[in-house]
Amino acid sequence: MTTPIELEFWAEDKTFADRVGEDVLAVFHQVDEQMSRYREDSEVSRLNRTAPDGPISVSSGLFQVLEKARDVSVLSDGAFDVTFGSIGYLYDFRAGKKPTDEEIQSGLSRVNFRDVLLDQEAHTVEYRQPGMLVDLGGIAKGYAVDLGVEHLVSSGIRHARLSAGGDMRLLGDKRGRPWYVGIRDPRSEGRNAVVLPLQDVAVSTSGDYERFFLDEAGDRVHHILSPVTGKSVRGVQSVTIIGDNALTTDGLSTAVFVLGPEKGLEMIERLPGIDVVVIDDQRMMHVSEGLVPPPSR
Ligand code: ADP
Ligand code: MG
Repeated sequence: MTTPIELEFWAEDKTFADRVGEDVLAVFHQVDEQMSRYREDSEVSRLNRTAPDGPISVSSGLFQVLEKARDVSVLSDGAFDVTFGSIGYLYDFRAGKKPTDEEIQSGLSRVNFRDVLLDQEAHTVEYRQPGMLVDLGGIAKGYAVDLGVEHLVSSGIRHARLSAGGDMRLLGDKRGRPWYVGIRDPRSEGRNAVVLPLQDVAVSTSGDYERFFLDEAGDRVHHILSPVTGKSVRGVQSVTIIGDNALTTDGLSTAVFVLGPEKGLEMIERLPGIDVVVIDDQRMMHVSEGLVPPPSR
């Protein structure tokens, strides 16, 4: 993974702590080997090559992520769609490369989560179209963070903060006080737009500043793409979701980014236990009801 991973926790014994840290890191490597579309030999790449030919059985981890991806697609009416990969692969943000309108048009017919058939009993996956590409970049890191936290819990750790790029889980509090989680100002590195005291939650942020370049017209071409237009989504600079697991918050942060402030907030208000902070392209902050402070007196 090209993502910085941060882990902070308390343990009595240094040797034990070192081993726990290494094990958590190993979890991220394993998920990367399983779910990266940049690796020819990953399970996802294998699926992309073979699933158009018939049902393929997959690991329970990959199946779980694909099921959650489908749930978020249904909830967001297709704003989140892992088959965006069918056009996503045409972009190279590091090289500053984007597809032509013709290339996008020919790829868009293969963007449709409904064409990924999941058989819950057999744990198999089949694509209904040849040439479809699933890309789990919008959800796999959350899955890895959850697995990492599971490992911490089973090792007896009770206070921890684990993050991978924009996805974080807080285990317990920071030993008697809350963790303070900053939501970055999307246009100023090192500055926070807001800081939230939190404990025992997952927090995911999707931003247009993570991977982007400016095109010839000076427009920001970034990594969150509309499954309808095949182009970078406009109108939002960042979305932060707070919930109880990172698989969910990761998927939802990308989904709300695509939906925009109005529809995004509508979706979140229907989901118990989930909150959101959206910073729009006018730098206005929109928050869900759970984050609105009660009126004083
Ligand atoms: P990051 O933590 O890398 O910023 P995000 O959770 O913000 O990740 O998701 C961005 C990633 O999601 C993109 O790099 C891409 O892999 C994937 N993605 C982009 N557009 C969509 C979409 N409409 N639906 C699902 N996944 C998407
Ligand atoms: Mg995400």
